[in-house]
Parts: sequence; C-alpha cells; structure tokens
Amino acid sequence: MKQEKEIIFNGEFDDSEEEDDDQSQDQESDEEQTKKKKKKLLQNTNKNLIMNVSDTQYPVVKFVGKMIYKFKLQYVPYQEVNNWDFCWTDNAVLPETLAKMQSHQKINHFPGMYSLARKNHLGKNLNKMQKQFPDEYDFYPRTWMLPSEYNDFKQQFGKAKTFILKPEASCQGKGIFLTRSIESINPTEHYVAQRYIHKPLLIDGLKFDLRMYVLICGCDPLRIYLYKEGLARFATQAYIVPNTNNLDDVCMHLTNYAINKDNPNFIFNSDEKKMDVGHKRSMSSVFQLLRDQNQNVDQLLDDIKDLIIKTFCSVQPILQQNYTQVDNYANNMCFEILGFDILIDSSLKPYLLEVNHTPSFTTDTPLDQYIKKNLIADTITLMNINLKTKNEIIQQKKDEMQKRVLTGKKTKLSTEEKKLIKLQCQKQRDDYESQNKGNYELIYPCSKSYDEYLQHSLKLYEEWTGANIRRNQKKESIQINQEPQNKSQSQPKKIILEKKSTLYKHVQSRINTNLFPTNKNEQNKGNEIIQEGEEQPPNQIDTIPEVDNDNFVPYEDYQQQSLESIKDLCAFTEKQGRELQILDLIQYRKVDNRLNNSHIQQQNVQSILSPLSSIKGVLQGIAIKNVKQFAIRKNNKNVKSSSKQINESEHEKLQENQQKQQIIQSQQLYQQSNPQGMNGAYIKPKVFSLKLSHPPKGYKLQSLPLLIQQNYTKFRYE
Ligand code: ADP
Repeated sequence: MKQEKEIIFNGEFDDSEEEDDDQSQDQESDEEQTKKKKKKLLQNTNKNLIMNVSDTQYPVVKFVGKMIYKFKLQYVPYQEVNNWDFCWTDNAVLPETLAKMQSHQKINHFPGMYSLARKNHLGKNLNKMQKQFPDEYDFYPRTWMLPSEYNDFKQQFGKAKTFILKPEASCQGKGIFLTRSIESINPTEHYVAQRYIHKPLLIDGLKFDLRMYVLICGCDPLRIYLYKEGLARFATQAYIVPNTNNLDDVCMHLTNYAINKDNPNFIFNSDEKKMDVGHKRSMSSVFQLLRDQNQNVDQLLDDIKDLIIKTFCSVQPILQQNYTQVDNYANNMCFEILGFDILIDSSLKPYLLEVNHTPSFTTDTPLDQYIKKNLIADTITLMNINLKTKNEIIQQKKDEMQKRVLTGKKTKLSTEEKKLIKLQCQKQRDDYESQNKGNYELIYPCSKSYDEYLQHSLKLYEEWTGANIRRNQKKESIQINQEPQNKSQSQPKKIILEKKSTLYKHVQSRINTNLFPTNKNEQNKGNEIIQEGEEQPPNQIDTIPEVDNDNFVPYEDYQQQSLESIKDLCAFTEKQGRELQILDLIQYRKVDNRLNNSHIQQQNVQSILSPLSSIKGVLQGIAIKNVKQFAIRKNNKNVKSSSKQINESEHEKLQENQQKQQIIQSQQLYQQSNPQGMNGAYIKPKVFSLKLSHPPKGYKLQSLPLLIQQNYTKFRYE
C-alpha cells in the first residue's frame, strides 16, 4: 500500500471524475505496463467494492476511497440501500443501522459514542470514574454539569479561581467563556463548567493543544490504536495567566482553529514539508521540539495513552450494549476515528479536554491534506477493507448455512465456544494488523491491566440501566416459579423500585436503551450529536435531565425549557431536513405539590403548534395530539390544585389512586387492541408506565414530552 499512499491530494476531489486508465498505456514501456497491470488487477477487484459516501462532506474521504483504494463510490443515502461494503458518514450511527448490517459491511461509527462525544455525557461518565479512582482519573479537569450541580459548583468560587464554561453540545469554541464570579452564570442554563488549567505548557509564549487521532476498532473487547501524527493548534495572542482583565481574550485562552484563524497574527501552513511553523503544526514537530528541550516526551506519551484507554473504559459497557445486536465475533463491523483534544500543563501533565466523534477532515492547508489523507488511508488498510476479505467472510457464512442445512439444526454455540471463536478472531486480527498498521500504534490491549476500571464502569452501567435490578428480579422470579402456588403468568411482571434513585435510573434507562426509529425510510443521520463545524440547534435538548445518585431533580424547569424551545428546535430541525418528533412519555415524580405549572398554558401550546406543520402526514397529527394532551393534563392539574384546597396528604392519596385506576384501564385497553403484547408498541405512553408497575408510595405519574430530533421512535419491550 505504501507507494499508493504517495498519490498526492491537493484538497480537491471531483466527484464526477471517471478514471480511464487504459488511455495512457500506449506511451508506456512494457515493464511499466506489467507493473500497472498487476496493480490494476487489485484495483479492479476493489472496484467491485462499494463505498457509500452519501453522508460525508469531505473531499479527502472520497479521494482516498476512489483514488487510492479504487472503491466504487455510492451516493444513495446509506440507510436506503444495503449493498454497500463500507460506509463513511459524518454523523452518528443509530443502533438500527448496525442491526441491519451484514458481517462483511463496515461503518465508521459506533452507536452509543455520544457517551464520549457530548461534553455533558463525557463529564458525567468521567466524574463517576473519578469518584471511585480519584488519582487514576485526575487527567480530566474537575467538571460540574449545570444546572444540576450548580450548588456544589457555587461553593468552589473564591481565591481567584478561574473556571471555563462550555455549552453542553457545542464545538469550535462557540459560546465558551472564562469566569471568576458565580454571578456571571445563569443558574438555570445548561453548561459544562470546568476548572481552567491556568498554567499550560507554552511554545513561543503561546498556549496550544493537541488534536490526537485515536482509532477504536473494536468494543468487545476494546481495541484501540493511536495515530502517531496529529495536529498542534496554537492560540494567537501571547499567554498571560488569567486575570480579571484578560478573561475575555479568546485568542489567548482558546486554541480553536476556528477562533484563531481570523486573527491577523495567524500564520497558515503553506508547505507540507514545513510542519513546524505557524499556528497549526504537526504534532510530531511539537514533540520533536520538546525532545530538543530535554523534556520527557516518552513519559508524556505514555500518560496520554493511559488517559485514552481509561476514557474508553468509562463507556465500554455502553458501546458493548449497542453492539450486542450483531453476531460479529471478529468485533470489526464498526470503527471510529476520534479526535482527542489534549492540553499539556507546564509540568508536562496531559489533560483531556474533549473527545470529538467527527473530527474535522477539512483540508484547507497542505499540512491538513497530508496528515488527513494518510490517516484515512491507514485506517482503511488497518480495517482490512478489500474484496478478498469480503469474499472470505461471505464464504464462511455460506459454509455455516450449509452445515445447518445438512445437519438440519441450528448449531447453537455455548458461551465457551463463542469465547474461543472470539479469541481466534482476535488472533487473526493481531496477525493482520501488526503487518498493516501504517502510522498507527496499538495501545489496547496492552500489557497493563485495565480490568478494575472496566469492571467498575460495568457496575455503574448496570446500576444506571437497571440491569442489576432485572437480574435480581429474574433470580427472584425463578425462585417464585419454583413454588407452584405462585404461578400467575397472566399478570404483568412487576418491577419493584423502592429507592427513588433506582426508580429514576430505571426510567432513564428505559428511555436511553429503547429508542429506535421504526422504519427504514424514516431513519436519519443520527440524533443528538453535533458534528464539528455543523450549526447547532438553538437550545439543544437532552432527552432527560442529568441526575446522579439520590439527587432527585425537579422537572419543572426542564419542562418549561422543553416547551419553550419547541419552536426553535422545529425551525432548526426543518432547516436540517430532519423531522422533529414529539413523544409523550410518562414519568414518575415525587409528589411535592408543585402544581403551579402556570407557564404551560393553552396559549403557549397553540403558539407551538404551527411549527409542527413541518412534520409530515400522520406523524403530524400524532405530534400535535401529544402536545395538546400534555397541555390539557397540565391545565387540568392546575385547575384541580387551585380549586380544591384540600388537605395535602388526602389530595396526594386521591391522585395516587386515580392514577392507579388509569393504569389498570389503559392496560386493559392496550391489551385488547394489541394482541401480540407489548412488542413494537410505540407512542403508547401508558404502556411505558405500565411496565414500571404502580408508582411506589409517595410518587405520582407525570407526563414528560420528549423532543427527539430524529424520526419516529418506538419502544421495545422484552
Ligand atoms: P470546543 O469543543 O468548543 O472546542 P473545548 O472543550 O475543546 O470546546 O474547548 C475549547 C478550547 O478551550 C480548548 O481548545 C482549549 O484551548 C480551551 N480549554 C478548554 N477547556 C479548558 C480547561 N479546562 N483549561 C484550559 N483551557 C481549556
């Protein structure tokens, strides 16, 4: 592959270009022609491989696919066809896309990567690990999720401490500011607040950070490579430790290219051979400079690799969960190049600032063109994407099928057998990749064990999703089933949730793990993750507010924000060519008599109905109905609470009983109209609540409209 990579990319790619290799052959010597023929043989076979590029804006991706690997480029939306072999998209991938893929197909994202790529999710996941392993996870600056952790954050101010505040889902430095006073922060706004690393390592008096490219090419088990080349991005104003006079100087404190490139000081790279000058340099040139200054770069690199692996450990169970839907023992249908942004402080300690799941592949300088072209090409080689491998996989599947036909039964593998196959596949990958890794370095698996971090994050994940509850329940129900008098199969299973935190987590997990688009025509490009450089929606809304342990967050603020944001979100969504869905779910909420929801008025609802016209057909009707129903219920509650000034506890009891009645009725109704049971139910909010059984004492049902920036969703129940 080496000589092929030398094909020069100058930043442009003409999509309509058709190769015609035969034309030039007349003028070439026999030797050259034989050489070319050999090469062409390989290329021609690859021509039968289809690379779907319908959802990428980057010329460098198409260039590498077509000019280096000779893939046939396909422009039909990848969700609409299934004959591609390899798909490169600039957006997040849904679990359903993966579920439909065949084992020879590969895609450049893992479903569930939002858990690293969204600042608030990353913060939440790493904070949890930090709690358990404070010293081992100290590479992430102390972080607070606002507004839910506002009170704790407030306590941190004083003694000239500086904090950096970042919108939860933004990129390119947008909306970021530094502060030393709590008064400058709106306590209701959503931000990720972080201790500001005030003594960064400087080069030429300038702050800089590193964009490191990390390839995750397996999640079960983790398989991680670090690219040996990357970018160093410099600020354009000489650095001075933060003081009240310079907090606003973004070109001093922020190293984003998007911010600094407009500064007249910015020196652009103009030659790929001069990677060590200007405000965007190669990572290797910065390491060389540090080595020349006798800095311990090897230690720095070891620390960086360690932090990368630990970061993945914190979300491995989430990725694995999303991956279980494919029977892919080779663990290689998804891969993803992530941009890790690393800041080094003056004592050469690296800090993780953020992880980008769609690092920019913009190639506006020769430096970018060179690095990114090679990065993508090395990735394709490492992922073993070629016709030979495809055919082998297909043949293997055929053999398995034939065996089944001959023996007349489906060979069900035991866990041990599966483990063994996985190990064999891993060994094969080790052999292949060690010979074909280009400029990548395998950093995990490695000699050091990360098991304790992986185990802890699994424990956290199970607590969060309620998997541990379900497991315990299963055990219990097995015990119950062993007692013959307790056979009551017609009764729906009850999930007993005693602690409010467990209850909350369970609800949250049902939402997080059960949202899928329903039909293939209605899939879209991924939901909540915003691509670098892409415009973000105004007031990006999470599906669920942050919550931790026993802190039960009141929903009022959240709901108010949701409703008020519908309009903006609709407009944004329409602009993006996507559809906004509104889903009415039911949540339990602690009865606290906060019934004064005067902000949700009929008038308010009317004003949000008109943008819903952007939703098509029958979906529109359902969306409007959901919003209306929500408002009506809310208004009814308001009326009830103000008119009946009854004893508080009596009122609660009454409501609780009414709710229970409603549950039973809706259960009957639902069962009548859905003879197959609960599988595939959608927009049946009461069904959702039913599975959670009756509200525990002290809780009542509360409706929460979920705004989902993707197509229709359904719930899947076991
Ligand atoms: P964005 O996704 O908008 O680029 P980042 O988290 O990468 O957000 O922050 C933007 C820039 O702000 C970084 O490139 C870095 O220069 C600076 N920065 C971010 N967090 C910190 C921090 N905790 N301490 C010091 N500088 C920071």
